[in-house]
Amino acid sequence: MNPANDRDVIWNEISGPWDVLIVGGGIVGVGLLRESVRLGLKTLLVDAADFGSGTSSRSSKMVHGGLRYLSTGQVMLTMHSVRERQRLLREGEGLIEPIEFLLPSYTGDRTPGWMFGLGLAIYDTIALRWQHTHHSTSEMRDLIRGLNSHNLQGGYHFYDAQTDDARLVLRVLHEAVHAGGKALNYTRAESLLRDRAGRVCGVGLHDLFGQRSAEVTAGVVINATGAWADELRKEAGQGPRLRRLRGSHLVFPRRCLPIDQVVSFLHPRDDRPVFALPWEGVTLIGTTDVDHRDAMSTDPAISPDEVDYLMEGLNFIFDSPGLTPQDAVSTFSGIRSVLDTGRDNPSRESRDEVLWNENGLITITGGKLTLFRHMAQDTLRFVSKQLPDRPRPDASARMLDEMDQAAFDLAMEVQGGGLDEDAKLRLLGRFGVHSADLLRAAQPGELTPVAGTPTLWAELRWAVRSEQVVHLEDLLLRRTRLGLLLPDGGAELLPRVRELCLEELGWDEGRWQAEQIAYHNLCQRAYSLPQETRVPIEAMV
Ligand SMILES: Cc1cc2nc3c(=O)[nH]c(=O)nc-3n(C[C@H](O)[C@H](O)[C@H](O)COP(=O)(O)OP(=O)(O)OC[C@H]3O[C@@H](n4cnc5c(N)ncnc54)[C@H](O)[C@@H]3O)c2cc1C
Repeated sequence: MNPANDRDVIWNEISGPWDVLIVGGGIVGVGLLRESVRLGLKTLLVDAADFGSGTSSRSSKMVHGGLRYLSTGQVMLTMHSVRERQRLLREGEGLIEPIEFLLPSYTGDRTPGWMFGLGLAIYDTIALRWQHTHHSTSEMRDLIRGLNSHNLQGGYHFYDAQTDDARLVLRVLHEAVHAGGKALNYTRAESLLRDRAGRVCGVGLHDLFGQRSAEVTAGVVINATGAWADELRKEAGQGPRLRRLRGSHLVFPRRCLPIDQVVSFLHPRDDRPVFALPWEGVTLIGTTDVDHRDAMSTDPAISPDEVDYLMEGLNFIFDSPGLTPQDAVSTFSGIRSVLDTGRDNPSRESRDEVLWNENGLITITGGKLTLFRHMAQDTLRFVSKQLPDRPRPDASARMLDEMDQAAFDLAMEVQGGGLDEDAKLRLLGRFGVHSADLLRAAQPGELTPVAGTPTLWAELRWAVRSEQVVHLEDLLLRRTRLGLLLPDGGAELLPRVRELCLEELGWDEGRWQAEQIAYHNLCQRAYSLPQETRVPIEAMV
């Protein structure tokens, strides 16, 4: 993080006034920060926890058009999504990458195969690129190793895109900060300030890290708190309007389920689309879609029923995959907020964005990761009358900054090379404007990957030094994804991670111990199988 974004520097001048104050540092909040700063507005973003620690690090990691939205008539959502995907692919190489999808069809599917064909034709028409193909039953069998071929009716091959969601949040955030935006994690919006007319004109903030508070005024206050949005709306005197839906994933080591393309299929229980997807050297299975009724103060976690549902899907689509839940290396769950229309089936609720102005509190939620820039620009257009000079966002401007390839190459040369082209691109994509700095900060031996993952040790050093890491979980679950990719949240790495944290963050032994315990507890609670599913029955008798 650049020094001008230092916590103390920001707190010293926090009271404002700001043009825009954004509450929530998920993809929607950071997208808003980026676009607001681009318009020359003085903008502050705060997050009650870590940047991206909400749903934006717990998605299915797809930057996609959303084929299934076509089947529920959400054509505009698909259209915007395909366009945004194309731009992200062009501008975010190394972070947003094309990925192949295979979509087998079966006799009796409630959504017949030809409908997918139609949807894919619309998809490709919007993208101005014809890239889907139909395959016969025997071709599908050849394309997907171990595919269940009972009642198989051929299928489709097409392209979408994939990302590291938490790193996308961080890249957008860092570019916004680089351009002059300010951002604080672990800073909660606790109350809303009102002007004489009763309209929201600021926020009461509390620094959960430094234990200080401030009343901060702003021309526009934006509630980008995702699944928490109703809570801040309540402060503005509004009743709940959102429905919280939990989606969970199981994460298997690649050796258990070695696939190179996303296998997308309709779950036999309810015909919902479910995916098995390769990501960062592991295979994800997801997602579920159930009402989330737990308190929002605790991290969401997969339930035993969701584990059963995902395993049932896996056992349907692959012939005897021979997997048990205990093979999973980790799990994760995220919550989406959708407009509550009371439908019986949560999956029928619209995924469109919602944008409200309630007594001056602007709420933007719903939508999807892929649409972050679109949502940010919609919001800024919505409030432009309240902003100096009534700025208009430019839909043709770049979403992500251009990379400084020359600086990166020079830093690479100084380091003596040693990375292959894929690894270089990965760094450029994830660290954008800071990728050369990351290389310069690397110590001897740190341009090597953490065993079993594509993550370099240099990424950890850079993160603890420069990416506002406050807790160990920030480093292992979002700056890097090691906590998801390795058993026990990467417990084996902790001795070396400890050295880094003591050296770069100045933690003492007591702080390290406390962080380690908190991280272990979090992994057990929210990133592992539920207690009931953890021990195989045979092992108990
Ligand atoms: C299971 C699942 C899979 C998905 N997969 C995809 C996918 O593959 N592709 C895709 O495009 N979309 C996907 N989505 C949708 C996408 O992930 C979400 O739409 C998006 O991440 C929501 O971002 P957000 O910024 O609105 O919310 P969040 O990321 O949840 O951010 C909200 C932030 O607000 C903060 N906050 C809350 N209260 C306060 C407060 N009082 N003060 C300060 N901060 C506060 C929280 O700490 C949090 O960090 C998926 C969603 C789910 C649930």
